Amino acid sequence: MVVQSILEVKSGDTLGTVREFLKAVMEKGVADTLLVPLEVPNPELVTPILVKEPSELDTANPLAPVMRVNAAAVLARMHRDDGVGRLGAVLRPCELRAAIELAKVGRVDIHRLVLIGVDCMGTYEGDAYCQIARASLREESCTDEMMRWTRQGPIAPYRLRNSCQMCEHFIAENADLAIGLIGYNVRERLLVEAREDYAEELDLKPGQANGREKAIARLATIRHHRREEALTQASKLIGDLSALCGLIAPCTACGECMEACPFCNTSAFMPKPAKEPHTDRVRNWPSGEGRMMRGRDMGIFGELVEMSRRAASCVACGMCESSCPRHVPLAAIQGVLGRRVQEEYNYVPGRSLEERLPWARDYEDRLGPFQEEYRFAKLV
Ligand code: SF4
Ligand code: SF4
Ligand code: SF4
Repeated sequence: MVVQSILEVKSGDTLGTVREFLKAVMEKGVADTLLVPLEVPNPELVTPILVKEPSELDTANPLAPVMRVNAAAVLARMHRDDGVGRLGAVLRPCELRAAIELAKVGRVDIHRLVLIGVDCMGTYEGDAYCQIARASLREESCTDEMMRWTRQGPIAPYRLRNSCQMCEHFIAENADLAIGLIGYNVRERLLVEAREDYAEELDLKPGQANGREKAIARLATIRHHRREEALTQASKLIGDLSALCGLIAPCTACGECMEACPFCNTSAFMPKPAKEPHTDRVRNWPSGEGRMMRGRDMGIFGELVEMSRRAASCVACGMCESSCPRHVPLAAIQGVLGRRVQEEYNYVPGRSLEERLPWARDYEDRLGPFQEEYRFAKLV
């Protein structure tokens, strides 16, 4: 059961209230350590850092409209035995969804993790954020400026990252603890949704969460239109070979986009060659599920299968595009590929931990495993 509670904001200090809440999460033992965006060394540079003491949260800023890395990729790189105890991760919705996808392939240990989601109004590219933060130093901070719009919902500033302009998953869902901003005047109050046991540990008083649906629906409509527009245009270009070549021609194969993607830096999505060639069995891999390919040499077919598996899990965070020094429009390209696979399999990445990856579902009643791989590969 989920408990809803209202946090009163003192003196209009939204960020201060969020920091106090996160401190309580650590002080009351809900999490021993926190991975959280910190303003280090100054407010212009906000990046996820592991915090071991509540006092370090004085510079935490999970509301800053900037995302330099997808924190789920950071979680996947952390070792299981790194002595961090019960780890809390403060994540934007696209990071949270990526963490859930990574948990399904065994790259994130969800059972020792407290997922703390925060609604997201959108983020600027790193350089743009620095410029805006510098320009607003003497007036309203960049974070406060963004928080002015939470109540009404519709905001589509052209300076937001492309993927944020068309993001339809901006509400923190499927978290153990979620901080709700959209639909509220966050200078007065915030919504906290908590798992019942955590609500008890944090002594959260149940409260009524009224009046947020309209703002969410308005923002969803704006983002949906933007997404349709961008993906329809990208779809046409991808379908035309010479136009597609034009799009990707600036690529220097530097690999930055793959480094930035939470799913590309891991072999967990690769089809594994069978130890016993010519068998069609499903084996436990790497966290309990996975389908084997026939034979050892996967070649181009294996690469396509791997690509389509990643497209199924793509959470549209846009970090691939943001990291590209050649400005290849990867958010739209990945958006088209992802949508194709996700719609075909009625799969929403990060929707639920219980929902099996499309490529790990049992399709034997319809197609043999090899044909299913073929069906999957041809979608990309
Ligand atoms: S893609 Fe969505 S959740 Fe992620 S930073 Fe942008 S608006 Fe936020
Ligand atoms: S492919 Fe791009 S948009 Fe999709 S999850 Fe990876 S970094 Fe994010
Ligand atoms: S980051 Fe850009 S230039 Fe580098 S490999 Fe990716 S698409 Fe190519």
